[in-house]
Amino acid sequence: MKARIAEVFDSIQGEGLYLGEKQIFVRFFNCNLSCSYCDTKLDRFTEYEPRELFEEIKLYRDKFHSISFTGGEPLLYADFLREILKLTGGRGHRHYLETNGTLFFELERLIDRIDIIAMDLKFPSSTGMGNLWHLHKKFLKVAAKKEVFLKAIICQATHEEDLKQAVGMIKEISPASVLVLQPNSYENQAVLRDKLCKFKELANQAGVTTCVIPQIHKIMGIR
Ligand code: SF4
Repeated sequence: MKARIAEVFDSIQGEGLYLGEKQIFVRFFNCNLSCSYCDTKLDRFTEYEPRELFEEIKLYRDKFHSISFTGGEPLLYADFLREILKLTGGRGHRHYLETNGTLFFELERLIDRIDIIAMDLKFPSSTGMGNLWHLHKKFLKVAAKKEVFLKAIICQATHEEDLKQAVGMIKEISPASVLVLQPNSYENQAVLRDKLCKFKELANQAGVTTCVIPQIHKIMGIR
């Protein structure tokens, strides 16, 4: 069984609640979505067997917080993930899953071996795609069995209605989860600032703990 992997590297986590933690990143190739703001245009990959990836991860000798399975969309490779998670879990590593929050059936098969889930919320007004709320709801119900925080990209085009939808969903399914608002790195940050402050205030008032965290790795110029 093989998976297409674009890169394996160590760095610090550049976004979300685990900002600054040292991680080993395994970036899977390919995605089931096509967001307008996507910054992960992958054009090459190497095929790995689970055991081959495990051997490569073992080469990283320094202490690290967790292994980040990212993409693309890692859950496209659920069978492969089941195998590699068994191997790395056997060495005591923590597993951090970065996902677009749509493949709930695949998550269900792996949830027992995942420690932390960074789940994207794809606001239709931000992504330029259709409505994915029905998938996000099913996904969050599974993810809530473990530690999960949610992350939404905020653009100039983002509607307040999408924020309200997200807040309602979090309150209903996983009220203790934190919502991270992440400004689109490709847009003027000064222009986005007022919207981010307003959205944070609205969400907090509605009872969902919300913070604004930009992508620090891009500001620092690291991977
Ligand atoms: S889900 Fe992530 S990797 Fe997939 S298209 Fe959207 S931004 Fe890109």
